[in-house]
Amino acid sequence: MDQVELTLEAARDLSRRCLRANGCDAANADAITQVMIVAERDGCASHGLFRLPGYVSALRDGRANGRADPAVERIAAGVIRVDGDLGYAPLALERARRPLIDAARENGIGAMSLVRTFHLAALWPEVEALAEQGLVALAMTSSRSLVAPAGGTNALFGTNPMAFGWPRADAPPMVFDQAVSVMARGEVQIAARDGRPLPEGAALDAGGHPTTDAQAAVDGVLLPFGGHKGSSIGLMVELLAAGLLGESFAFQTSEEFADDGGPGRGGELIIAMDPARFGDAEGWQSHAETFFARFDREDGVRLPGARRHANRKRIIDHGFAIPAALHAEVLTLSEGPATG
Ligand code: NDP
Repeated sequence: MDQVELTLEAARDLSRRCLRANGCDAANADAITQVMIVAERDGCASHGLFRLPGYVSALRDGRANGRADPAVERIAAGVIRVDGDLGYAPLALERARRPLIDAARENGIGAMSLVRTFHLAALWPEVEALAEQGLVALAMTSSRSLVAPAGGTNALFGTNPMAFGWPRADAPPMVFDQAVSVMARGEVQIAARDGRPLPEGAALDAGGHPTTDAQAAVDGVLLPFGGHKGSSIGLMVELLAAGLLGESFAFQTSEEFADDGGPGRGGELIIAMDPARFGDAEGWQSHAETFFARFDREDGVRLPGARRHANRKRIIDHGFAIPAALHAEVLTLSEGPATG
């Protein structure tokens, strides 16, 4: 496959220009671009420029508001409610971060309920930013129906990612971020694009039969990791990110919005905890570090996030590559919608 090499700054310009040409104001274009650039920086292609055509499709058809002006309100001592103004999540998350940190510091625990938003991003940048401020953070969002509950053959849950961040003493925060499906939909789409098979147990085809064919999986249904255990986590994320927040369940999002690579409306919940306000105010971090030290002694294991950090070092210095076809598509989209 032909590839185009890019620096992170060149990618940032490309993304900004494309979003501005398709109806985003500067604040939204910058915030959306930032989450795609940090994904590329950490080698997470499924949430990098690969997402740009999806962002543009929902701007062009008027689904997503490119000039969203998200409003942040403290609705209880520890609860921040963010109205995303039907725009993309990144600007809303940027605006909510400081009030959420303040709520967590004041109360020991703070939660953010983000509603009326469209979510196409990875969750780890958000929990990482909170953990860099010394908070323990948990984030989750529901998407459209793509995953069958254990035992079923029809999609009901979203891919419903959940991310967790823990502040470290002399290391970057420990962060994991995982979809409830064996593979995130973006990874399956990239495998289909590149003609790569999926692992066994990741998907069913449209007839409900197990498949390793990535395109058959895109046309079929994804499966939860860990059978009934992952399925229960998918169920929990539906209840927390949709039921609790009063936002759409994945099945409602699917009924309302076409599955065209663009986003469906949904909600996101973030819970941030100040570890100094729970067990041991002075010693919580050194206590946790004894666990990490023990973890590091095990052969064959690594902490989640280690791959991203290794990529980060390399990509900041050397840039990254995207398929030439995606690069060409982004350049065409950057000309803006056809007029007349
Ligand atoms: P992966 O299965 O690739 O990785 C999940 C997590 O496991 C990562 O934190 C990863 O760390 C860690 N990990 C992987 N291998 C190991 C290992 N051998 N030992 C220890 N840890 C390991 O991610 P998914 O495919 O499940 O999800 C990809 C992304 O898709 C997520 O960022 C998620 O937020 C996003 N997503 C977004 C949606 C939305 O609606 N906005 C919907 C669904 C998914 P590392 O990165 O270091 O490999």
